[in-house]
Amino acid sequence: MNTFPFRNISAWLDEPAGLQPKLNGDITTDILIIGGGYTGLYTAIGLREAGLDVAVLEKDFSGAGGSGRNSGYVDGLIGKDFPSLLKLYSPERARELCSFATEAVRKLEQFIQENDIRCEYEPNGNIMAAVHPKQIKKLKKVAEAGDALGMDFTYLGPEAMRERGIPSPFVAGLFDTVGGTLNPGLLISSLRKIALEKGVQLFEKTPVLRLDDSQPVAAHCPEGSVKAEAAVLATNAYTNALDWKKRLVTPIYTAMCETEPLTTDQLDAIGWKGREGIYTAHEQLENYRLTARNTIVTGGKYVKIPYGFQVSDTYVPALFTRIEKVFRERFHQFPDIEMKAFWGGWLGMVLDFMPVLGVTGRHRNIHYGLGFSGHGIPQTLMMGEMLAEQVQGREHPRAGVLERRVMAMPPEPIKWLASQALSGVFSSLDYITDQQTRRLKQ
Ligand SMILES: Cc1cc2nc3c(=O)[nH]c(=O)nc-3n(C[C@H](O)[C@H](O)[C@H](O)COP(=O)(O)OP(=O)(O)OC[C@H]3O[C@@H](n4cnc5c(N)ncnc54)[C@H](O)[C@@H]3O)c2cc1C
Repeated sequence: MNTFPFRNISAWLDEPAGLQPKLNGDITTDILIIGGGYTGLYTAIGLREAGLDVAVLEKDFSGAGGSGRNSGYVDGLIGKDFPSLLKLYSPERARELCSFATEAVRKLEQFIQENDIRCEYEPNGNIMAAVHPKQIKKLKKVAEAGDALGMDFTYLGPEAMRERGIPSPFVAGLFDTVGGTLNPGLLISSLRKIALEKGVQLFEKTPVLRLDDSQPVAAHCPEGSVKAEAAVLATNAYTNALDWKKRLVTPIYTAMCETEPLTTDQLDAIGWKGREGIYTAHEQLENYRLTARNTIVTGGKYVKIPYGFQVSDTYVPALFTRIEKVFRERFHQFPDIEMKAFWGGWLGMVLDFMPVLGVTGRHRNIHYGLGFSGHGIPQTLMMGEMLAEQVQGREHPRAGVLERRVMAMPPEPIKWLASQALSGVFSSLDYITDQQTRRLKQ
């Protein structure tokens, strides 16, 4: 029995009333795009602005993937974390990657402003927070690496956190003024509207079953097909279902939930006047953010990694129970607050945690932009720009930043065994931290 107020997509988004038609028949266009999330739509908008005809094929509806389900953090981060960037790359290269991520946020802010997108964007910055004093060491390590990379993070000790009114479970933090939080459902709905206004042909409830390695390239759907000069794979976590780049991206499931709106008294008690996005310094982070409707949206921490590369149902009650439990522990001053919605979604992750831009196929006409980990809100916009340029045979000035040798994920059962082992270690470390935090409070 479903005892959770489960949302099929998310608390941000439902299936729109006016769905675009399914593809019915055989058509020809300049460029076909598979996937109607942020990446697909930004690319489509860019190509339309360049005067090309574009068809977007979306198996469900625009926003049914990660773009309509995420937590809404806009951040200037990239890769696993700053210390790992410095381990993996030269300081110059690592700095370039960070400046790419910051630029992605600035471009998104500009896009929101120029297009008057009402997506409840609150540019209040984000805080990486410690729930136990021992995590301060990690914050300091990240701050040091951030410094070396030219990132402007401010360390907030326990006193500074209280002065700033950050909720009491978070004992120290690293504040980043870049970015903030938004409503991802409003963002994707606005992009869908802009794309349609620009003349993008969007076909919803239109899964691509096969993409031929041909010139022109041809996408086959249940009731029709599209021929085009080039195709763009904007399928992120769902990429494996097509016969292209099958082991480049692994899907990772994350559960989310939203509380009922906090009363004025509850808001006063909690503080959090700066309304910063908060994520914890755990190995598998927890995230907490306020919304425009004064609810708290939380998620993360427990992830589900599938055997193989295919996504499955997003109703995962075991994880809903666990994230609710963590929330109640952190915000124990509100034992009666109700959870109004639970949902989940699939992130797409590449082995080195960074997005990949590429082109494949015998005719070099199948382009792809995939694997944003938890930073797709800003970085899909840059990816869309880069894909639109690449499709037209030009190189975007920032495309070189993402160039590197990208390894495919190992095949099964190796990927599964390795990811289970890694997430087992991370969970154990987090469990110890949480036990120590509980003891501290007794
Ligand atoms: C729970 C969760 C929390 C997240 N939190 C954040 C966050 O706070 N900040 C952040 O920056 N990022 C976050 N992300 C990541 C972010 O949502 C993604 O990086 C971003 O949405 C990727 O956009 P996309 O367009 O590439 O992919 P998607 O939005 O997943 O779009 C891919 C689309 O392709 C369609 N599709 C797939 N296969 C086919 C096919 N064969 N035929 C037709 N259509 C197909 C799918 O239906 C889907 O609509 C989060 C993700 C999740 C799941």
